[in-house]
Formats: sequence, structure tokens, C-alpha cells
Amino acid sequence: MPWNVRVTNCPLLLLGAVFLLCLAAWRQALAECLSFQRTLMGTSVEVIAWCPDRDALQKAVEQAYAEIERIEHKLSIRNKNSEITEINRSAGKKPVRVDDEMYRLIRESKGFSRMSGGAFDISVQGLGDIWDFNRPGFQEPGPDEVQKGLDRVDYRKIRLNERDSTVFLQEGGTEISLGGIAKGYAVDRAVGILRESGVEGGIVSAGGDLLAFGRKGNGEVWKVGIRNPRDHGKNICVLPVSNLAVATSGDYERYRMVDGERVHHIIDPRTGYPSRGCMSVTVVAKSAVTADALATAAFVLGPETGLALLEGLTDVEGIVVDSDGKITASTGLAGEGGRPVDEKPERLDSHQKHNEVRN
Ligand code: ADP
Ligand code: MG
Repeated sequence: MPWNVRVTNCPLLLLGAVFLLCLAAWRQALAECLSFQRTLMGTSVEVIAWCPDRDALQKAVEQAYAEIERIEHKLSIRNKNSEITEINRSAGKKPVRVDDEMYRLIRESKGFSRMSGGAFDISVQGLGDIWDFNRPGFQEPGPDEVQKGLDRVDYRKIRLNERDSTVFLQEGGTEISLGGIAKGYAVDRAVGILRESGVEGGIVSAGGDLLAFGRKGNGEVWKVGIRNPRDHGKNICVLPVSNLAVATSGDYERYRMVDGERVHHIIDPRTGYPSRGCMSVTVVAKSAVTADALATAAFVLGPETGLALLEGLTDVEGIVVDSDGKITASTGLAGEGGRPVDEKPERLDSHQKHNEVRN
């Protein structure tokens, strides 16, 4: 009789449940959540991760940082021996054979350019250092100087040949830099290494561009606070995330006020000037490289067109803060942008960064 079966099985079920609870508590007690911080890629790179085996965790984190260092070196345009430098040096002269990784990154970048109608464009580097506001004696460039630089910006002049794995900048003077996706790519790779090493949950964050994987040791999802672009002590909202990347492009981290104008590091490839219209754009996506590139793209496109771009893509959400401080979120995050911030994503350190997290 089913009734009997239930009664006789009850103590067994109870025992089983207690056993599972004990097992979870025991694993929990063994699991440690550790946090790490280093300065790489010109920013603060943080890792939070938990794993029952402390030694394994530390080894995995070392490998993750080593990978970020490798990527920094590989993608740096200051590295005289890098493929990227060779590509730029050979502009207008000859195609350069590159390895698979470099080829894929440049192909992906061109994909983001097409997707955004050129708002994301790695050849924006062609403007050179005219917007390098950190150099001594910086002055805002005149229109002629901007136009001269702008003539060298066009992602369509980056020619790819898959069969030979070559990249050719078909016009002399063209220059590329992967600065717009480097942090995102490094974060994705670092998380890949942690996962392969058996780390069950964590976050890798480079300057606030982050990928959160798994859950916290206690089973909760991670919480990411999105900074108020004009009040760094405050968040505009807190997003619960698991297996998702969050990246923010903003005009408030790297900038300089010149004659009352905010000169910052995201350049509109259509005008040659620092992009106007947004204070910040946050993108939530499945990979950090996608979130990083789309945040830059939407920032350049401005509040309406930028949000429309994000709305049109699957598995992508976003929050835009326009130049008047008005917050708008994509439909998948509806309400998040205006939601009062009652949850606390405690912070890791005192470095300024776009988004903040902690276990
Ligand atoms: P943020 O975190 O604010 O997005 P990033 O470091 O991710 O800043 O991106 C800024 C970098 O991207 C710049 O330093 C420059 O190398 C590059 N960049 C600037 N404007 C563009 C653009 N329109 N498209 C692609 N890359 C850009
Ligand atoms: Mg970015």
C-alpha cells in the first residue's frame, strides 16, 4: 500500500536529508572564499573565489593572474615586438601573419564595429595621442588636427585573410589598438582558468569589468553594484548575477577637465572627439569581452541609439545614464535602473572602479 510505503520510508528520507545537510555544511566549512588584488593592465584586477581546497585555489589564482599578464603583454601597443605593433608598422605596406588568438580578437572587434555601425572601432587609435590628456602640456586639439586623425580611422580598412591568417591595414597611417576589449578578454580567460582548475564560484574583475561565475559558497548569487557616475560613493542599483559579465564604460574614471569640458578616453569614431551624450553605460552579457565592447559601443552611440542596440541583441541587457543623469534600463532589467539601493555589495578595496563586488 502506498500509505505504508510512505510511513516506512519516512525515517530513511529524514536521515538522508540530514546527511545531505551535514555534507553541505561540512563542504561549506571546508570551502574558503579568498580575495586577491593586483595592478595589471593599468588597473586594479581583483579575484574572489571559493574552493574547498585552499592550495588548489591559490595555484589557480596564480595561473589566472599569469594569463592576464600574458594578455597585457601580447596586446600592448607599447610592446615593440608584439604582433599588434608589427601590424601597425606594416600599415599600407604588407599583410602580417598573426597567431589564431590575435586573428580571432581582431575579427571579433570588426564584428562589434559592424554591429554598432562603426561606433566601436579599434582603428580609433589612428587619432594617435591627440587626446592623451595625461601628457604634459596637453591642449585640446584643433579641428584640423582632429580631421587629419579622423581620416585614418575606418575599421573597413582592416583587411583579414583567414586562409593565411593575416591582417592588413590597407592604408598607410592606420593604427589599431585592442584597448576597448583587452580587459574583457583577459577577464574571460582568467575565469576559464579558474573553472578548469575546479574553482566552483568566483568573480574576476578588471577595473570593474567583471565576470561572475557559479555562486557564493553559501549558495547565494553574487551582487554587483553599478556606480553612480557622479557620486562614487553611491550605486545606482545592485544587480544579482551568476554566470554573467558586467562591464561599464564611463566618462568619470579616466578624464580631465579642460576649459570646463570633460575630456575622456572614449572617442566617437564619427566625430574624432570624446563621445558626448552619456555619463555611463553598463552592459550585462554572457562574456566579458562582449560586455566590454558593447559598453563602449553603446556609450558612443548615445542614450537612445545605444540602448536600442542593446535591446536588439539576445542575452544582452544594459543600463544607460545620460548626460543629464537620467537612468534608463533595457527591458530585461526594467526597474533595476530606478530601484532604490537597499542591498549592499560590500567593496573589496578603495580603488576607484566602475562596478563593485564582494562575497
Ligand atoms: P572603459 O572601462 O571606460 O570602457 P576601456 O579601457 O574598456 O574603458 O576602453 C577604453 C579604451 O578603448 C581606450 O583607451 C581606447 O584604447 C579604446 N577606445 C576608445 N574609443 C574607442 C572606440 N570608439 N572603439 C573602440 N575602442 C575605443
Ligand atoms: Mg570597457
